[in-house]
This record gives sequence, C-alpha cells and structure tokens, in this order.
Amino acid sequence: MTELAPYAADAAQTRGRRHHEPTPQGRSDFERDRDRIIHSTAFRRLEYKTQVFVNHEGDLFRTRLTHSLEVAQIGRTIARNLRLNEVLVEAIALAHDLGHTPFGHAGQDELNACMKDYGGFEHNLQSLRVVDLLEERYADFNGLNLCFETREGILKHCSRDNAKTLGEVGERFLSDQRPTLEAQVTNLADEIAYNNHDVDDGLRSGLISLDQLADVSLFARHLAMARERHPDVAGRRLIHEIVRRMINTLVLDLIAQSTENIRAAAPANLDEVRHAPALMAFSPAVAQEQRELKQFLHKHLYRHYQVERMSEKARRIVRELFVAFHDNPALLPPQYQAKAKNDKARTIADYIAGMTDRYAYREYRRLFSIEEM
Ligand code: MG
Repeated sequence: MTELAPYAADAAQTRGRRHHEPTPQGRSDFERDRDRIIHSTAFRRLEYKTQVFVNHEGDLFRTRLTHSLEVAQIGRTIARNLRLNEVLVEAIALAHDLGHTPFGHAGQDELNACMKDYGGFEHNLQSLRVVDLLEERYADFNGLNLCFETREGILKHCSRDNAKTLGEVGERFLSDQRPTLEAQVTNLADEIAYNNHDVDDGLRSGLISLDQLADVSLFARHLAMARERHPDVAGRRLIHEIVRRMINTLVLDLIAQSTENIRAAAPANLDEVRHAPALMAFSPAVAQEQRELKQFLHKHLYRHYQVERMSEKARRIVRELFVAFHDNPALLPPQYQAKAKNDKARTIADYIAGMTDRYAYREYRRLFSIEEM
C-alpha cells in the first residue's frame, strides 16, 4: 500500500466518535465505519430507492445502491492516485445517499414542502441523522457512532441555521472551512457517476437519443473517438464505449487539475487543507463541458414528460401520507407513535424518508385504497 500524503485523512488521527470506543482490532477506524454502513438497514434500503427511474420501471436502471457503489469505485480510483485515504472515500460514498426519500428528488422536494413549518427536510442532513440517530443496532448508543471525518463527509451541504444546531460537524459551514480532501473527492465522484449513468439510463429508457446528445460537447467528442476506433459498433455497445470514455476523461482530468491545485497550495497537513480553498476540481474546460451535460440532462431527461408524470405521482404519495399521519398519528406503526409524542412532524418525516419506493406505494394503498381492506 502506498503511503498516505501528509494532507490525507489518517484514521489513526481521527477526531474520534461521539461515544468513545476503543480502536478496533484488525482494521482501522475508517474501515470500521465502512463496515458499519454496509451492515446497516438504511444501506439495504438503497436497493429499492429511485435514482431517476422508479425501481419497478426496469431491472437494469441504476438504483441508489448501484449509484453509491459507482461513486465508491470512482472515488477510490481518484483517492489512490492522489495518495488520499481510499477507505474514508469509500465509507462516505456508501453513506452519502442514506437519507434519500423514496422516489428521488420529487420525493425529497415534497417532503421538504410538507416540513416547511417544522424545520424543513434536506437529504444530506437526513443522511447524517440516519448514521447519528436513526439506526438502532447497538446497545450503547443510537446510530452507527461513526468517526467525525466520515460524518462531515456525509454532510455535504448545510444551511447556516441547521449548522448551528449540529455542534462540531456543523462548524465548517459557519467558519467557511473545507472538509477533508476525501470528502471533496467523494462529492465530485458523485457528480461523475450520476452524469454518466443518467446518460446511460436515459438512452436505455429511450427518453433521450444519441442524436440529441451529439450536440453536447463532452458526449460528442467521445462519440467521435468511439466511432473512429470502432466504425462498425452500434447500439448498446457503442453507448458503453462512449460512457466509459467520458468517465475516464473526467476522472483523469480531475486527478490532473487537483494535483496541480495541491502542488500550488502545498498544504502541509489536513488542517491546512481545511483553511485552503477547495483543492479538488476539474480543469475549467472540462468543468464547462460537465455543466453543459448537466443542463442537457435537466432539460431533456429530468423534465421529460414521462419522468414528470412519475414525479407528480411521487409528490402526491409523499404529501398524502404526510398529511394523513399528521392529522392522525394513530395511523403510524407503534414504534413511531411513541416517538411522535415528542416531535410529531420530524418523526413522520423520518418514517417517510426511510421508506423504499415500493413500501411507500404499499403504505399508500393500505391507507387510501377502497378495494384493499
Ligand atoms: Mg449521490
């Protein structure tokens, strides 16, 4: 194993866990975090949560689980090349979407609207809530009791108001500091993963076409490369040849530009990383191409009428469940009723956010279907 860079996050130097635990045997503290995440209930639910396409729409589309695995794979490659802590990147990547509601962004936006008068709902914050509080597996504490560095990586964004309530992990949003380079890597690996798999899934679904994408520069130049190398290849195989090249370009560009940024800033340790500007970045030209691709996906895929129809249904399910539980908490399962006595709205939000797509459907039918008694 190559030695970590002096500015990498070292598990032996962790700021520690909220509840003290002895250093594990046979693995580092960050490895223990990763292992706890993989064994959590919230992690298994990711399999049945929508990324863009609802789980039952097709077996080959990405889910939050396969998305998280792709983020971990891309992030680890980048981390290894920069001599950063691969295990910390993996832990953050596997946990970064644990707080997502069912039905992708439509579900989250609607739950946020339902929670408007009760502190709102934000999926990053919810991911932290899952690992800090909501998992119930250990005798001595709630949550997974993860290391500070894993928790701060999970909390990618946060409003100042929320940051004030979070203690140590919220401080950087108030003092304008950066998280570890490992957290910065994971954030950009997330972008690389979803931009590319949404192109792939979008083409698979037929909602977007190769012809449309030929106007997007990042896609167009990799299409040209793939065609030149393999003039006779078409269909799915051609798409894979393009997507794998785009991922490769983005990863290599990110490594090259970030190496340059790190060299210029020359941080001596992690503390200097925290006080430097964000050092992980794409080159300006590739960053522009990524923005163009993102805009294309927003316009042609995420707002496609067939996706909108699904989103409308998702919003209705989330809202009607929230309203029903809020009007009558006796409809909640018993363990949630007990918690709802302290904080009704937040408990309902936790319950709904934890649902998989199909569980939310089933719950909706159980509550509102006349045929199903
Ligand atoms: Mg993600």
